[in-house]
Amino acid sequence: MHTGVLFDVPLNEDGKHKGFISIPFSIDRSPYYQIKIPVCRIKNGKGSRLLLMAGNHGDEYEGELCLNKLVRLLQASDIQGEVTIIPFLNMPAVMAAKRCSPLDNENLNRCFPGDASGSPSKRLAHFLEHALFPQHDVIFDIHSGGTTMGHLPTVLAEEQQCVEKTEKINTLLRAMGLEYGFIAKNGIDAPTSMGAAARAGALGLSGEFGGGGAVTPTTLRTLEAAIDNLLLALQLTDRKLFTESNHCYHGPLKLLRLSSHDQSIFSHHRGWFEPAVDIGDQVQAGQTAGWLHDFSDLETEPKALRFKQAGVVISKRLNVDCELGDCLMQVGVPD
Ligand SMILES: [Zn+2]
Repeated sequence: MHTGVLFDVPLNEDGKHKGFISIPFSIDRSPYYQIKIPVCRIKNGKGSRLLLMAGNHGDEYEGELCLNKLVRLLQASDIQGEVTIIPFLNMPAVMAAKRCSPLDNENLNRCFPGDASGSPSKRLAHFLEHALFPQHDVIFDIHSGGTTMGHLPTVLAEEQQCVEKTEKINTLLRAMGLEYGFIAKNGIDAPTSMGAAARAGALGLSGEFGGGGAVTPTTLRTLEAAIDNLLLALQLTDRKLFTESNHCYHGPLKLLRLSSHDQSIFSHHRGWFEPAVDIGDQVQAGQTAGWLHDFSDLETEPKALRFKQAGVVISKRLNVDCELGDCLMQVGVPD
């Protein structure tokens, strides 16, 4: 009664079903409280099995808005196969407009493979990796930088060991219709949803579609197009569902790689960062990324921070104020 995870959505019945992942967690306001994470599942016969999820980080909104819209748009008669939609995966973090859950201060995307008797985020991660992910062929976990980070719209996946999976993943990444994608190299033990998807035997896809805790019409339409294109590529649908989703890039996907800490610029001390370049800019090794100012001393010259590798700026810290260890920029290197 006071542990585990409950799930009331049928996995094997055709039709459109709504329910919850429920996580019992006793709190001051409510001794027998259950965290309720809404789930919509749509099944029509046999076909690809796709899990779409957003709100892994609560303050990343493109996925939350688009998947909430998709729940209303998608009917069983529209598909051949199975689509599970979770628009607000880490519901306590979504409600708090935060990256991490305020109930246990955990970042869900660092909790995998989870713990069946752990804190709410760890129990949720355990349920996803061991119960829900294995019931799907493809997992698309949608991100958007977060309140303090802006991100170049990119699709992404983890590097695969097997040639067949690499080809399948690259085909799906290309089909989604963005200009940029990147391949991360966090390994099979990664505590992330993509590590969990690989361990569960599913193809893991992710993406960053914006940032700053904000959305724009362009980032929303880009994600809608990516979702439509993914549904079509998996032959789940045979037409586009989002009527305005025409924000496709028609050139070949430019694949970047993020595999080394040398591709990031970190703050060396408490300071104020003035960027010299912006998201999407092409940069060279040795080029100035920006200047770290010290407001506590008028005599101190700002320190220039330089890129160690050439590539495309894929993310940037949005807050000027920074601490020792804050990541200020990341560069994706052409794959
Ligand atoms: Zn995120």
